[in-house]
Amino acid sequence: MKYDNVHDRKTKSMLLLANYEGRSGTELSAQLLAKKENGLRSIIEGIKIVEANPDIHTVGMSSWPNILGELQLDASVMDGNTRRTGSVGALRGYLHPVEVAYRIMTDINHEMLVGVGAERFAHEIGAITNKNETEISINAWHKHLDNALTSKQKEDFPNVRLLDIKSEAIDPEKMFDTTIYMSIDHEKRISSATSTSGWGWKYPGRLGDSPIIGAGSYADSRYGACACTHTGEMSIRAGTARSVVLYLKMGLSVVDAVYEAAQDLADLKTGYLDEVTIHAIDKDGNYKVVGLNSSEEIRYVIWHPELDKPIIESAEILRL
Ligand code: ASP
Repeated sequence: MKYDNVHDRKTKSMLLLANYEGRSGTELSAQLLAKKENGLRSIIEGIKIVEANPDIHTVGMSSWPNILGELQLDASVMDGNTRRTGSVGALRGYLHPVEVAYRIMTDINHEMLVGVGAERFAHEIGAITNKNETEISINAWHKHLDNALTSKQKEDFPNVRLLDIKSEAIDPEKMFDTTIYMSIDHEKRISSATSTSGWGWKYPGRLGDSPIIGAGSYADSRYGACACTHTGEMSIRAGTARSVVLYLKMGLSVVDAVYEAAQDLADLKTGYLDEVTIHAIDKDGNYKVVGLNSSEEIRYVIWHPELDKPIIESAEILRL
């Protein structure tokens, strides 16, 4: 099979697609793309604004902690020209997990680091440290424990079976998800990046789809990119982001590629099943966002050079 050459492609234009949770960083990303900065760096700079925004409790500082009250953050990046990736999981004490993910891509011959190893790496590269737990996140955790634990469990905590304590697949305030960004830059490079705190009150060490390349994101400048939010357990099992890009490679339109991947998710009949939002772009600047079985409106942010500023659009809700 003959593949398109990245440099010969004729794309419509540059493009930025981010989910609604990421909107506070999209103006900066759009400005950087417009100034012909590297697309991956442009979306990382946007995500860093979201990570440092204490009002978003599902990304970066002040997010909902794990069941032990610790904030363990996940992030990933992918450069669709080289298909190099960087991903970090269960990172504590650093302000910008997405920057640490980028430096994994650029500074070491691995694609993914987690836990104490990731923290050591972050220290060695001089990443910005931060106490990400805030009064708001710790109070919310206390409130959850108060409701979820029996009096005996409260007495014994943390020496209790954590398995018995409920976690939440989405923001307990039901406002936000992970943030995902994708872009096509002036050189037709396609990139993706994600950042999240994962589920509120998750089991320590739990990783969702956001740091798993191929599940929560994937970018290939020859075909397009995809990134998912919400129930990471499902996109990990279906390999959703990689599947969408593979469907593009097999010749499906971006709309059909997303529908096909949504059907793969809907065909999962066991395990933890809930909503998933699939965001995808193709190499020509077409895009599609679908909320699979979403209970509320799903919005996302789009920018391309014909727009002065990023705009918000609504996703199609699919019930399968
Ligand atoms: N997909 C994320 C995860 O499973 C959660 C989210 O998008 O809110 O960690």
